[in-house]
Amino acid sequence: VRWRPVPAATSRWTQSVRERPFSTEVHEFKAETKKLLDIVAKSLYTDKEVFIRELISNASDACEKLRFLQTTQAVKEVNDADTPLQVTLSVDENERKFVIEDSGMGMTHDELVEHLGTIAKSGSLDFLQRGESDASKIIGQFGVGFYSTFVVADKVQVYTMTADKEKGSKGYLWSSDGSGSFTIEEVEDVPRGTRIELHLKDDATEFASLANVKKAAQKFSSYIDFPIYVKEEGE
Ligand code: ADP
Ligand code: MG
Repeated sequence: VRWRPVPAATSRWTQSVRERPFSTEVHEFKAETKKLLDIVAKSLYTDKEVFIRELISNASDACEKLRFLQTTQAVKEVNDADTPLQVTLSVDENERKFVIEDSGMGMTHDELVEHLGTIAKSGSLDFLQRGESDASKIIGQFGVGFYSTFVVADKVQVYTMTADKEKGSKGYLWSSDGSGSFTIEEVEDVPRGTRIELHLKDDATEFASLANVKKAAQKFSSYIDFPIYVKEEGE
């Protein structure tokens, strides 16, 4: 981990990201996703910081995916071609927010619906219902990683734009309180990659502390192949 301030050119997600809903779509989570959300939220209660590991690992996967698809020429034209592959963590102590950004693959509209609206690996629910108590094992094995955010957040917002220019250059905002549905709307000026904002629950405000986030990030970033930055507050 390099605790360097983020260079100006990479502070791509400023307040200038305008939230301008064109039309807001409402999607229901699949029934089993809802159930899984509940179980994950309850069982991870004593191991809350796991969500940081999951988010860093997803951000890293997204960077890796873009690097790979470029190498194999599967993605020929890249949005924001000059932006380096990297991961940035930040907090807003006043607003009780935890934020992670990556400049990786991003998601199209349909990928958002598919990847954040369903459980990719069937079987995870069976596993949970059989009484497996080590929730982090389940998460590692079945990839319910993203849903661990709802252990600490009562609202999760995902801004994303795909890297693949052929698939478009539109940005989207996925938003959910984890209780059964999520919304998607088109948003202007979203840079390539994904920005995830967690609005922390009252009992998880420790993750809006920069010192704690640095510690957790240090702990979970050993095998990450991309620079991880932590934004000092106000940067
Ligand atoms: P897994 O990582 O095991 O696939 P997750 O629940 O952690 O499961 O993530 C679900 C899916 O959501 C990922 O496979 C990926 O397609 C998508 N996703 C999550 N985070 C990101 C991200 N930062 N950038 C792009 N896609 C992401
Ligand atoms: Mg994951």
